[in-house]
Amino acid sequence: KKTIRLILGDQLNSAHSWFNETSEEITYVLMEIRTETDYATHHIQKVLGFFAAMRNFAKQLEDAGHAVIYLSINDNDNLQDFAKNLKQLIDKHSFAHFEHQLPDEFRVDEILKQFCQSLSISHGVIDTEHFYTNRSELGEFYKGKLTFIMENFYHAMRKKHDVLMEGQTPVNGQWNYDSDNRKKIPKEHKPLQPLVFENDLSAILKEVDRAKIKTIGTVDAKNFLWPTSRKQSLQLMEHFMVNCLPLFGSYQDAMVPTEWSLYHSRLSFSMNLKMISPQEVINRAIKEWNARPDEIEYNQLEGFVRQIIGWREYMRGIYWLKMPEFATLNYLNNKAKLPDWYWTGNTKMHCLRDSIQQTLMYSYAHHIQRLMITGNFALLAGTDPDEVSAWYLGVYIDAIEWVEITNTVGMSQFADGGIVGTKPYVSSASYIDKMSHYCGSCYYKKSVKTGDKACPFNSLYWNFFDKNADKLQANPRLRMVYALWKKMKPDAKVALLEQADYYLKNINKI
Ligand code: FAD
Repeated sequence: KKTIRLILGDQLNSAHSWFNETSEEITYVLMEIRTETDYATHHIQKVLGFFAAMRNFAKQLEDAGHAVIYLSINDNDNLQDFAKNLKQLIDKHSFAHFEHQLPDEFRVDEILKQFCQSLSISHGVIDTEHFYTNRSELGEFYKGKLTFIMENFYHAMRKKHDVLMEGQTPVNGQWNYDSDNRKKIPKEHKPLQPLVFENDLSAILKEVDRAKIKTIGTVDAKNFLWPTSRKQSLQLMEHFMVNCLPLFGSYQDAMVPTEWSLYHSRLSFSMNLKMISPQEVINRAIKEWNARPDEIEYNQLEGFVRQIIGWREYMRGIYWLKMPEFATLNYLNNKAKLPDWYWTGNTKMHCLRDSIQQTLMYSYAHHIQRLMITGNFALLAGTDPDEVSAWYLGVYIDAIEWVEITNTVGMSQFADGGIVGTKPYVSSASYIDKMSHYCGSCYYKKSVKTGDKACPFNSLYWNFFDKNADKLQANPRLRMVYALWKKMKPDAKVALLEQADYYLKNINKI
């Protein structure tokens, strides 16, 4: 049957069984459309990165002998919508069968389900063949359980896929080596410089400008630094394995001003677009560790493997178990607007300024910057989770809803009331100072809690626990915090709450 197969922008998996053979009966279609560029306001690097990767992938398929239709953003016959474009193509070329791969996003899943229902030709859907798990696997794993503790899922994944296992026991005897990680980077340590690419995407930028797509942030389009093909993704992976893995775990949670990448892999963009698979990344890391036993400690490897076979698969599973309700959750009933300076970096707080400026410049911040700087502050400021989520979905090159919203609404903003995390990830200045070199050169003073130059994190931290006591004080993991708060002298409490109130009222000026 004459078949049309749709490939979404985050389905660039050249190892997919679809591509095992070429057939004259099959045509692939990829499309750059306004529904995708406009469902959120994206960073310019995200739009360019997706378009460039899609174009490279289409070319790769053509070179391999497949028939491909590519609709670019300003094509005259581009109707800027999946269903409309597909319908037009089916009519024009008399396709008799339609196929697609399961979308990772709920929104697109709904669009394609409806489209299939409207079709008068036959249709089929196939897995993306990318993840370790399928959509419903996590739900089955936690069936009948009241909590969704990631650690348990992670152990099961390691066992099921025989990753770093000796029979039923984990290699080295322990599952979790987090206590060996979480180190601050010593002052004299000069971090490795990131591998960046120099892709010339200026022609695509012109097209995006012509289409008047609204975007965030800046780009050097002549030297686009992100990988835009499988080949470059593999190069970035190699760079990580050889140079970063030996220190990945140790400095996983560390932050250094202007050092935007440190020992992180920056493979999320490549993996989320499926240019490389989680299996090959994990296998490659294990191979490197095996080859360099004296140089790569086990905790560095385990920390990395946990992020991918643990957190990444876990977030995907939570998403499919809990959507669409998950997107509406606001357990703490937070209503504040996101401070204006989240869009400019124009704040006197060094940690936030640096994390936001690098976000606007590179469309990237590493996990602890996302969680313990921008996420932490947004939560302490009582920000509406929808506002926070729109920001994260827009600003990061790797942001696709299944992994963005579970991290933002769940892990970072505790808006899910404790599905993803067992307590809110908030801190005062002391944690930030422990993990970073931000506080020393900040306008604010990390140890000052009230009055002039008091670090806003300090009073906002206590204000957060005071304001949310009805929902949080029974949490066993927060017993210590509430015990401390209760022990504090009444006038000290009042001063902290007044200070917090002042900052919240003047949030755009701090
Ligand atoms: P590394 O530090 O090198 O880690 C290796 C890989 O592990 C990552 O590439 C990623 O695939 C995976 N990983 C690590 N942590 C997580 C996690 N919590 N959830 C899922 N996968 C994880 N990740 C996204 O891919 N897209 C998002 O939109 C996104 N939004 C986030 C929003 C918030 C508020 C927070 C706190 C985290 C978010 N994350 C998101 C998770 C994580 O921060 C990024 O995956 C990571 O920073 C990507 O950089 P990296 O590739 O250098 O990661």
